[in-house]
Amino acid sequence: MVFNIHAGHGNPMGRGCGAVGLLDESFEARRVKDELIRQLRYYGAVAYDCTFDGNASQNAILNGIVKKCNSHGVDKDVSIHLNAGGGTGVEVYIYSEDMRKCAEITCDLISRYLGIRNRGVKINKSLYVLRKTAAPAMLVECAFVDNETDRERWNYERVASSIAQALFATTK
Ligand SMILES: [Zn+2]
Repeated sequence: MVFNIHAGHGNPMGRGCGAVGLLDESFEARRVKDELIRQLRYYGAVAYDCTFDGNASQNAILNGIVKKCNSHGVDKDVSIHLNAGGGTGVEVYIYSEDMRKCAEITCDLISRYLGIRNRGVKINKSLYVLRKTAAPAMLVECAFVDNETDRERWNYERVASSIAQALFATTK
C-alpha cells in the first residue's frame, strides 16, 4: 500500500496560509498529516509527504503539491484541510466514484470519533488537487476552524486514525 499525503496551503508562518479562526488550519492540518503518515508507516504502508511548506502564491503551492504527488506511483492521494465559513462538522470531496467508499468511511469515523456532524461526501470536479493528481484522491475538510463545537472536540490524533483506517479498509 502506497499513499501520498499532504496538508493544504503553505507554510504556517508565511504567505498562502489557510483559514484561521479558533483553530489555525495550516498548523492543525500539518499535525493531522504528520500523525497520519506516522500511523501508515507504523502499520507497514509507504506514505509520502507531499506537503508544500514554502511561501508562495496559491497557484505555486498547488502546482508544487501536485508535482510531488505525481512523482510517485501510489494507490491514493489524501489532501488534509480544515473548513471555514460558519458551518460545523466534517466533509470529504472526491473527484470520482472510485474514492467514494474510502471517503464515506473517513467522514463516518471522524464524525463519530470527534462527535461532530457528518456533512457527507461530495463530488467536486474543479478542485485542483483532485483534478490534477494521477491516483484516486480525496480532500478531507476535517472540521471548521471557526466553530466553537468543532474546536472543543478537535483531536488531530483521532482524525489521523480515522483516515488511516479508511485507507487500510479500502486499499489492497
Ligand atoms: Zn484549506
